[in-house]
Amino acid sequence: MIELKRQNRGKAPTKWGILLRGLAPRYKKILANNPIFKKYSNDDRFILSVFSIEDSNIKVSHLQRPFINPESKEVSTFANVINQYKVFNWNCAYCRTPIKSRIDNYKASNFTCTKCFNYYIKDTKTYNQRIVDSSVEFTTYCRKLMIENQKKFIKYIKKNEH
Ligand SMILES: [Zn+2]
Repeated sequence: MIELKRQNRGKAPTKWGILLRGLAPRYKKILANNPIFKKYSNDDRFILSVFSIEDSNIKVSHLQRPFINPESKEVSTFANVINQYKVFNWNCAYCRTPIKSRIDNYKASNFTCTKCFNYYIKDTKTYNQRIVDSSVEFTTYCRKLMIENQKKFIKYIKKNEH
C-alpha cells in the first residue's frame, strides 16, 4: 500500500505538495508529467487510482495482450481499450449531430462532423469561436467523465488480476 505524504514547506522535493521521497520513480514521473494532479493533489483515492493504472500497464507484458473492453464487452488489445478510453460521445459544434471526439485532439475537425468541417472550416484560417467554445466545454465534460471511467476501469482490472 502506498502512503502519500504532503508537505508545503521544507527542503524535501515535492510535486503538487506531495512528498516525492519514498515514491517509486514511475510514480514521480506520473506526478511530474500530469498537471491534472494539481487540481486533485489532496485526493488520495484519485492519485492512487492513477498509480494502479500505471502498475497494471507494467504487469501487462506487452500492450498487444487480448483484453475485454469493460464497456462494450468486445475482445480487443489492451492498447486499443486504453485508446478507446480517450474517445467520448460529443456533438458537432455546428449542427449538433452526434460525433466521436478524442480528448487528446484539439484540432477543429475533432469538434465538427465531416460535413460541417468541409463546409465551414476546411479552407479557412480564421479564429473560430464556435470551435473554441466547443473544445472548452468538451474538456470540462471529459474530465468529469474520465474520473468516473477510471474508477470503473480500475475496479475491473483488479477483479481480473486474480
Ligand atoms: Zn455538423
